[in-house]
Amino acid sequence: MDADALYSDVIEKYSRHINPYLAKLMAFAGFGVEMRGEGCYIYDHEGRRFLDCLGGYGTFSLGHRHPKVVEAVKRQLDDLALSGKAFFSKNCADLAEKIAEITPGDLQFSFFCNSGTEAVEAALKFSKGVTGRTKIVSTTESFHGKTLGSLSVMGREKYRKGYEPLLPGVVFVPFGDGQAASDVIDDDTACMIVEPIQGEGGIQIPPVGYLNILREACDRHGALLIFDEVQSGLGRTGKMWGCDHDGVAPDIMTLAKALGGGVMPLGAVVGTEAVWDAIYNKNPLSHTSTFGGNPLACAAGLAAIETLIEEGLVERSRAMGDLLKSGLQTVADKHGRLIAEVRGKGLMIGLEFAEDEVGELVVAQLLNHGVCVAYALNNPRVLRFEPPLIITEDQIDFAVNGFDNALVETSELLATLV
Ligand SMILES: *Cc1c(COP(=O)(O)O)cnc(C)c1O
Repeated sequence: MDADALYSDVIEKYSRHINPYLAKLMAFAGFGVEMRGEGCYIYDHEGRRFLDCLGGYGTFSLGHRHPKVVEAVKRQLDDLALSGKAFFSKNCADLAEKIAEITPGDLQFSFFCNSGTEAVEAALKFSKGVTGRTKIVSTTESFHGKTLGSLSVMGREKYRKGYEPLLPGVVFVPFGDGQAASDVIDDDTACMIVEPIQGEGGIQIPPVGYLNILREACDRHGALLIFDEVQSGLGRTGKMWGCDHDGVAPDIMTLAKALGGGVMPLGAVVGTEAVWDAIYNKNPLSHTSTFGGNPLACAAGLAAIETLIEEGLVERSRAMGDLLKSGLQTVADKHGRLIAEVRGKGLMIGLEFAEDEVGELVVAQLLNHGVCVAYALNNPRVLRFEPPLIITEDQIDFAVNGFDNALVETSELLATLV
């Protein structure tokens, strides 16, 4: 099948059997069929190469098919692929120990699942089980996944509408406003769930000390504090965890995306001994998953964390992030009218346009220049740059130049429209 025929065949099947509306959007933005990934690059059906500055929304921190992770998974595949769950698993044990080592505070126990939303589901469930309370505090514009429980705490009404009633007792407060959160966290509150830095909300960075205020409010009332580090965790923000910027530890942390090393799907909910005792003491089977913690995913997770540390990628995220952010800022200054702000920590960078709809055009132009980005789900004015942490200075130059050209072309295009 030649490239055009392959493309038409795939789009046609998406339209008939997957999601015609999304297929249209993706095709319009200029996305082709991905055929191969390696390091920071994705190759499409025409053999075109794209620098992956989207990074699977934080999944590809080690790039695509990092050799150490691929090797670990291949080795595991030759011994045992999935677990029957009756026997003990060495990979599962090693990974849980490693996660306890690198997570802050008293986080000690892990429950493994397959995605971010499953981790959030477990975290919310645990908070109810531990406290015997039902009120949950979440933040506006937050994103925690799209299954019913996670959707209940999604800070965007657009996605909740039409699916209500969801979990009862959810209260939303503005992200970054510690006082507003303190005002509603009370003796009926099971938990507050928050992203240390909001991803889909448009790479929103809270004021310094925000997480401290939440910690104190939760402690005052015996509520649990949940940090959703699905996107901000594992070095993405230039520190191991998003919450390290405030030096605060949660009672429960959710992980996914980069945890599987960009090779396997893997999520985890990590908690303290007090949480695990309340959940599992009376019923050791109160929360389980058939595929969660399977040997392949855990092999990938273990190799991913080892690689992250061995290759100094957390520090690299900080250094490369500074470079990318200042490069984008320089370009943004040149095109002052178009861009409202460049912000971020480490390699979690958001670029906010002054107006709606410009972002879509820039995404399409950037693709033409071989750079893949996307806008934030809950804030389409914000383009996000979340490239692999292994990105090089040359690749950053390439992305910044591409961005400059894309803005020039977008300005020209806009000028012809008015
Ligand atoms: C992506 C994301 C999720 C959901 O993860 P899925 O694997 O898509 O279910 C939850 N929380 C945050 C902060 C995320 O970025």
